[in-house]
Amino acid sequence: MIPVPEPKLDHLYQEVILDHNKNPRNFKALADANVSSHGYNPLCGDDYHVYLKIDPKGLIHDASFQGSGCAISKASASIMTTMIKGRRAEEAGKIKKSFLDFMIKDELHPKDKPYIERLMLFEGVKEFPVRVKCATLAWRALEDALKQYEFEHANVSYHMFEKGEAKEMDEIKLSAEMTPNPNTIKFLVNRQFLESGSFDFPTREKAKDSPLALKLFEIDSVNGVLIGTNFITVTKEPHADWQTIAPTVATAIQEFFASGGEAISKDALPSANEGGNSLIEQKIKQILDAEIRPAVARDGGDIVFYGYQDGIVTLHLQGACSSCPSSIMTLKMGVEHRLKQAVPEIKEVVQV
Ligand code: ZN
Repeated sequence: MIPVPEPKLDHLYQEVILDHNKNPRNFKALADANVSSHGYNPLCGDDYHVYLKIDPKGLIHDASFQGSGCAISKASASIMTTMIKGRRAEEAGKIKKSFLDFMIKDELHPKDKPYIERLMLFEGVKEFPVRVKCATLAWRALEDALKQYEFEHANVSYHMFEKGEAKEMDEIKLSAEMTPNPNTIKFLVNRQFLESGSFDFPTREKAKDSPLALKLFEIDSVNGVLIGTNFITVTKEPHADWQTIAPTVATAIQEFFASGGEAISKDALPSANEGGNSLIEQKIKQILDAEIRPAVARDGGDIVFYGYQDGIVTLHLQGACSSCPSSIMTLKMGVEHRLKQAVPEIKEVVQV
C-alpha cells in the first residue's frame, strides 16, 4: 500500500475513532438486507460492504457493514450505521449529503449542523484528500444503496401492465440492481434464458446474434448489453440519466420475453467459451465457473477464459466489470491470487 499521511486529530476524537475501530458497531453481513452496496478505496485498501434493510414505507430497520480498512474508514462506517438505523431513508440521505458536502466541498449549512454533529470528529481529516476518501467511503456506499432502494421503489410499476396483455406480461418479473459501475444496471429476470455462461455485446454491431440485445440497443443512450443465464446487464452512456432509461429498458425486456423472443439466436449457441482442455486449463475453468464467475455475476459482470500459455492466464472482463474502475484491482488481487493458489504453475493473470 502507498503510505498515507496520518492526520493529527484532536485527542478526544482520536479516542472515538479508535474505539469504533476496535469495536465496530453493526459489523456483520445482513442476511435479510434488501439493498447493499460495495465501497472500495484503492489508495488505502479500504473495502466495505454496506447492508440496509428498508421496509416498503422507507424505514431503515437495520443497517450494517462488513469488510476491512483503516481506522478512519472503519470508524466512519461504524458510526454511520448507528446514525441511520431506525431513521427514514430520506433522513439518512440528508445526513449523508450534509456529511459529504462538509467533507468534500467544505460546505455546511447551519441548519444541517445538528444532523452531523457526531461526525464533526472527522473535520481534521479534511486536510488530507486521501483520508477524506477513507472517511466518506461507507457514506458513498450508503448513497448507492439508497439509490438502489429508490430505484426499486420507483419501479414497482414495472410489474403492472394495462390492456389485454396484462396476464401474460405479469408472469415476467424483473428486478433491478445497481452494480459497482454507476453506468451499469443488472436486470434480473424470473426465467432462465441461457444454460450457462454469458454473451457480451459491447456494441450494436456485435449484437446480431441476439435479438434481445438488438432491441435494447434501439434505446437511446444504451451502449452495452450483457446477457447472462437469468440476468441482463445494461450499460448506458455516462451523461445519460437512469431515471429515464431504466424504465424503458425494463419495459423492453418484459415485452421482449412476453412476445416469446429468444435472448440469443439458436444458431449462435453454444457459447464460444469452449476450446483447449489441458489439465491446467480445465482446472482454471473449474475455479472460474464454480467460484469466480458467480461472484462477479452478482455485480452484473462476467469473466471469460481466453487461454493459458506458459504460466499466463488470459481473461476477458465483461459487463459491469469491464468499465468499473476497480476491475483491474479485482482481477489482480482477487482472481490472480485464487488461481495461483490452486494452480502453482500460474505466474500471472492478464486481461484482454
Ligand atoms: Zn483508509
